[in-house]
Amino acid sequence: MTENSISSDLLVVGGGIAGITAAVEAAETGLTVTLVEKNPYIGGKVAQFNQYFPKLCPPSCGLEINIRRLRTNPSVKLFTLAEVTKVEKAAGKHKADVRLNARYVNDLCTSCGDCVKVCPEERANAFNYGMDKTKAIYIPDENSYPPKYVIDMGSCNGTSCNKCVEVCKYKAIDLNEKEKYITIEAGAVIWATGWEPYDANKLDILGFGEFPDVLTNVMMERLAAPNGPSKGEILRPSTKEKINSVAFVQCAGSRDEDHLEYCSSICCLASLKQAKYIREQYPEAEIHFHYIDIRSNGLLEEFYNSVKEDEKLHFHRGKVAKVIKDKSSDKLIIEAEDSLTGNLMQNKVEMVVLATGMESTAKNLPIDKSFVDKNGFLNSHDNGIIACGVSTKPKEVASVVQEATGSVLKAIQTIRGN
Ligand SMILES: Cc1cc2nc3c(=O)[nH]c(=O)nc-3n(C[C@H](O)[C@H](O)[C@H](O)COP(=O)(O)OP(=O)(O)OC[C@H]3O[C@@H](n4cnc5c(N)ncnc54)[C@H](O)[C@@H]3O)c2cc1C
Repeated sequence: MTENSISSDLLVVGGGIAGITAAVEAAETGLTVTLVEKNPYIGGKVAQFNQYFPKLCPPSCGLEINIRRLRTNPSVKLFTLAEVTKVEKAAGKHKADVRLNARYVNDLCTSCGDCVKVCPEERANAFNYGMDKTKAIYIPDENSYPPKYVIDMGSCNGTSCNKCVEVCKYKAIDLNEKEKYITIEAGAVIWATGWEPYDANKLDILGFGEFPDVLTNVMMERLAAPNGPSKGEILRPSTKEKINSVAFVQCAGSRDEDHLEYCSSICCLASLKQAKYIREQYPEAEIHFHYIDIRSNGLLEEFYNSVKEDEKLHFHRGKVAKVIKDKSSDKLIIEAEDSLTGNLMQNKVEMVVLATGMESTAKNLPIDKSFVDKNGFLNSHDNGIIACGVSTKPKEVASVVQEATGSVLKAIQTIRGN
């Protein structure tokens, strides 16, 4: 062991709800755990939700308790801004090379925010999918864990500016900080690397990137969130005005051999949930739901049935052909075939939400590609790889949590050599 080496029973890669769950469950059985997360904060996509189904509670209701378990358990070592670059297996141990990217802000930071006031540079706010800006020194979100500032060096002028360093009373900022490299040795590795939204820019017929009032479902979560770019007030992006009509376009790039061949299984429910966000703020708004099939697995059917009661929520069966701009107004037109009547239909609305699917990031991992299936998900049941969460297939949070807990049993068996 060198000073740059860490040894633990288990390494968990990815600090979303799957990785956090696996880490705390493992630590509570007595294992030592190292959790690595590439973002400056943990919580993954759940941290970016407004609410989550079926109970429609805020993300804090699931995350907070798990983060408390993680924070108070000395057996878990957490690294943020950390990426595994290589994993080798020798003599029954996994040896992972990890790059720790610089935060430029150390633990002396008290989050007073004086640095933000003097910072002259701005960056697109990744947490809000670029819908607003932060300063180059920023805290990803007011609820982020760890609650630490970070600098986006791509937007910072470095020591030629130095304003944040000069104003910081606590000597918490080092603009010359370099990335570090560590090695983690572990008896087992759990991959919980999750998903990214399918890139809506690839859906050229649906107007994303062309018309500001075409959003994606993940952007809609941020738009409705009290800590989002409009503090939870859902406004039309182009005019910042209130909304009278919205269309949800389901299967935007899903179940489509030119994009994602599979169903992400939660997009219908996510859009139904978001229809509720709209209804809460706009009792009179017309909401259109363009779908191929509505998929609400198992007990979630009840959620679908409850939302369906809404008389101003109109369901249209048929794939959307295109989204265009209306020539005589500032509205958007959805063109689709109604597959129940065979008629072509046009719907005029003010805002369009594309229900894009979940795409696994596993193909970028430093692992044998034979563990990655044709859609990019991890084959968790193959010998030699333990994975959980959306890295294995699209699913909702409740199933993710169950799978994460199950993956710990698999890890214990591996560590014990069973
Ligand atoms: C629009 C939308 C709404 C949804 N709403 C709901 C809902 O209301 N209820 C519900 O139950 N489900 C919902 N879901 C599904 C839910 O988002 C997923 O079930 C959940 O995010 C899965 O968690 P995860 O930890 O597997 O993945 P993620 O949340 O993606 O977390 C993975 C983590 O791994 C990190 N990571 C990735 N690669 C690396 C690496 N190489 N090294 C280190 N770290 C890495 C990522 O930065 C991330 O923090 C929704 C999905 C969508 C698309």
